[in-house]
Amino acid sequence: MQTPKKIAVVGSGLVGSLLAIYLRKAGHTVHIYDRSPDIRQIQFSGRSINLAMSNRGWKALDGVGVGDAVREIAIPMGKRAIHLVDKLNFQNYGQEGECIYSISRGILNRKMIDLAEEAGAEFFFEHKIWDVTLDDATLHIGETERGAWEEKKYDMVFGADGAFSRIRHRMQRQSMFNYSQEFLNIGYKELNIPANLDGTHKLDKNSFHIWPRGDYMLIALPNLDGSFTCTLFMPFDGENSFSSLTERKDVEVFFEKNFPDSIEVIPNLAEDFFKNPTSTLVTMKCFPWTYEDKVALIGDACHAIVPFYGQGMNAGFEDISYLYEMMEKYGDDWEIIFSEYQIDRKPNADAIAELSYRNFMEMSSKTADEKFLLQKKIEKSFSDKYPDKWIPLYSRVTFSDRPYTEALTLGDEQNAIMEEVMRIPNIKAIWDSPEIEKKMLELLK
Ligand SMILES: Cc1cc2nc3c(=O)[nH]c(=O)nc-3n(C[C@H](O)[C@H](O)[C@H](O)COP(=O)(O)OP(=O)(O)OC[C@H]3O[C@@H](n4cnc5c(N)ncnc54)[C@H](O)[C@@H]3O)c2cc1C
Repeated sequence: MQTPKKIAVVGSGLVGSLLAIYLRKAGHTVHIYDRSPDIRQIQFSGRSINLAMSNRGWKALDGVGVGDAVREIAIPMGKRAIHLVDKLNFQNYGQEGECIYSISRGILNRKMIDLAEEAGAEFFFEHKIWDVTLDDATLHIGETERGAWEEKKYDMVFGADGAFSRIRHRMQRQSMFNYSQEFLNIGYKELNIPANLDGTHKLDKNSFHIWPRGDYMLIALPNLDGSFTCTLFMPFDGENSFSSLTERKDVEVFFEKNFPDSIEVIPNLAEDFFKNPTSTLVTMKCFPWTYEDKVALIGDACHAIVPFYGQGMNAGFEDISYLYEMMEKYGDDWEIIFSEYQIDRKPNADAIAELSYRNFMEMSSKTADEKFLLQKKIEKSFSDKYPDKWIPLYSRVTFSDRPYTEALTLGDEQNAIMEEVMRIPNIKAIWDSPEIEKKMLELLK
């Protein structure tokens, strides 16, 4: 379908390695560069950071026949387990059988590299890319920024080198290149819930666990080895913040008071808290994403988002699905392929950035709010009855492959309707009545 090209992919992360499989499928020669050592050769540290995979991710994996290999390392989570200070509630994510999937980032990345290698991509680890010449797709590779560089010329270069991309860095120096980067005042730290002695999970393994506490929250996702990876999201400064927890005792008291049911299951709390880094969260936007028919950015390199919708990798995988559609449609006309790719994906990336930013409040505050839970119940019951009229926002983002822009627009419209419904006096008593159903049908018109 396409004339074979010699293509370099910078970055062997999740997006770079899946992209390589697609490019091989289209018949190209693919070289992948990564500055890090081959993660398959590194001793596993025991700690595992995990990600939630949903429909868009699966669609991209299945599109190139590797979905089932990844399903073997994934744990389905059909519901949120909401840990309030004094009770535990469960809330289904979608319809019966709809799940998101917990996958260890390290295990997934190794698997993706194996699969890309099997597909015929060639990997060059411990190769740092410092620069790219845009006009002729030449990579500049070297040990240090100021040392000697080797030059490697390709027909085309993809920058899949993450939020702080060097390929983008070069494009930023072009005129008319727009760029913004915004750090959140919320950081995160990883903690661990080990497995029981018999290898079973200490909490329900098919739930995404969340301890919503307003301006901070704790979450936990299951791992295959029986453990959970927890992430504490919290402001850097202020009353309940990373800077307020400086002593061992502070951390223990804080957890005892705010996450009492986590104390028993996180045995190394204080050690891990001070050993593990506090990391930052950034939203990065830019445009254009491509340069002529030579260079294109993909994944976090062109749209890094905050993780509160669990969509960063999913969105990067969807970039690949769309790019491949354009490859099938336009054959050898890479200028059109790149142009259509960035025109379609940029607004979608902006939409999921916005939704992800907003979702922090939903996860950290609203899931603990009775009124919000009632609202979700009303939406669910209405959507069960009129599935063609009402798909909840979370489902549009997570369990569909309709554009993120559509989810954002329709989500705002639905929200306006729900605000009106929630203002109805006595809504708590009559939420399940024909009157409310009629009102929603009217408001939808
Ligand atoms: C706390 C947290 C939780 C998240 N949870 C989810 C989730 O549940 N679901 C989800 O879909 N997404 C999630 N994400 C987002 C997801 O991690 C990213 O969107 C995804 O990893 C992006 O993949 P990527 O391949 O584009 O970039 P990266 O994973 O950043 O990979 C970039 C690669 O490029 C290499 N590289 C960088 N610079 C150079 C260079 N100069 N030369 C050579 N190689 C280079 C790096 O070594 C790396 O291997 C989360 C993110 C965070 C921070």
